[in-house]
Amino acid sequence: MTQLRSRTAVSPLRRRFDADLRALPVVDDLVAVERPEEPMHCLRPAAIAAAARDFVTGFPGDVLYAVKCNPEPAVLRAVWAGGVRHFDCASAAEVALVRSLFPEAAIHFMHPVKSRGAIREAWQRHGVQDFVLDSADELAKILAETGAGAAEGLGLVVRLALPKGEAVYDLSGKFGAAPEDAAALLRAARPHAARLGLSFHVGSQCLDPLAWRRALALVGEVIRAAGVAVEIVDVGGGFPVAYPEVEPPALGAFFAEIEAGFEALGLPEGTRLWAEPGRALVAGGGSVVVQVQLRRDGALYVNDGVYGALSDAGAPGFSFPVRLIRPEGPAPSGTLRGFELFGPTCDSADRMKGPFLLPEDVREGDWIEIGQLGAYGACLRTGFNGFDRARLVEVRDRPMLEAAAPADLAQAA
Ligand SMILES: *Cc1c(COP(=O)(O)O)cnc(C)c1O
Repeated sequence: MTQLRSRTAVSPLRRRFDADLRALPVVDDLVAVERPEEPMHCLRPAAIAAAARDFVTGFPGDVLYAVKCNPEPAVLRAVWAGGVRHFDCASAAEVALVRSLFPEAAIHFMHPVKSRGAIREAWQRHGVQDFVLDSADELAKILAETGAGAAEGLGLVVRLALPKGEAVYDLSGKFGAAPEDAAALLRAARPHAARLGLSFHVGSQCLDPLAWRRALALVGEVIRAAGVAVEIVDVGGGFPVAYPEVEPPALGAFFAEIEAGFEALGLPEGTRLWAEPGRALVAGGGSVVVQVQLRRDGALYVNDGVYGALSDAGAPGFSFPVRLIRPEGPAPSGTLRGFELFGPTCDSADRMKGPFLLPEDVREGDWIEIGQLGAYGACLRTGFNGFDRARLVEVRDRPMLEAAAPADLAQAA
């Protein structure tokens, strides 16, 4: 956030954005005044803009924000304020949303399996020029529906499948062409492409910088096997963020491996390097405030769960930072213990094992803020069982993981 203020080249958008941020409330004040009985989703636009700016500044290429990670317009505006000008969209609705907010944005359609209508609409109506594919059938669809080729500026990017790696979420089981098929696709696409690229995704929340280095070595093999020129190398997303007990290497370590791996390919000057981060830009920028409706020993029944913003806390078992908010009454105990959370629906799968470390005297009526939820959080919520009411507020708090020191817990009293 200091970075937000120290930059000298202030655009009109930036100035307005910064001024707006200073006027935002803080979470504790909102809870004290509004005493929300529905989940309250809290967005931290300054944190998102700062994370985006860090990525744009540090990454040695173009940064495409992966919109699916959090398509909230306020999030997209914060990402834009942080300097991101390229967007990785995966559906016609995402394309239309980004275009409506940013007429100047470069939008790339990065889903390897698209409906024909979505391809047409993206090309004809929204000026999307780059499309990803991992099969000859998809290439044929793109060519037929755009009616375009190299002369019209069509960009084609072949998605390469990777061997299963160390990421928490493997994404190669569903998409990507095997190396020999990717080489054949590059050859097939070459005559139709004004820009030809090769992309991969190491999997989400990948903690190992060397995963990108290995993938880039495979990219080199595929390009050599294809024997055609390639103008874009797209290293995908997957950049990790901190969660309780998970301290990933600094982003710079990932950028260094990517830069070295890219250089080692020996591609001609002017070859573009792209990344498609989602989680790394927005995770710290979102939280949800839930209210405790019942306590049963070590179990807390709260008003949001796996059908709300907390699906990753369910079966995937991610752990998130938490803190108690009790605006009035006795100060919470200084002794912490682990709790399990149960969501509001009647499904017994609506359960988050944690353990979530909270003051041992948590009681009905208390609020709990759950942090690092900006990525794949509120955007996954459903209306199941009628529990779809929630509010979205913008706040000026810092990301919770930075703030989750025991001292802050005591302060929440
Ligand atoms: C989901 C996705 C991303 C973003 O992944 P993160 O792990 O959130 O960085 C990027 N590219 C593609 C193709 C994706 O499907």
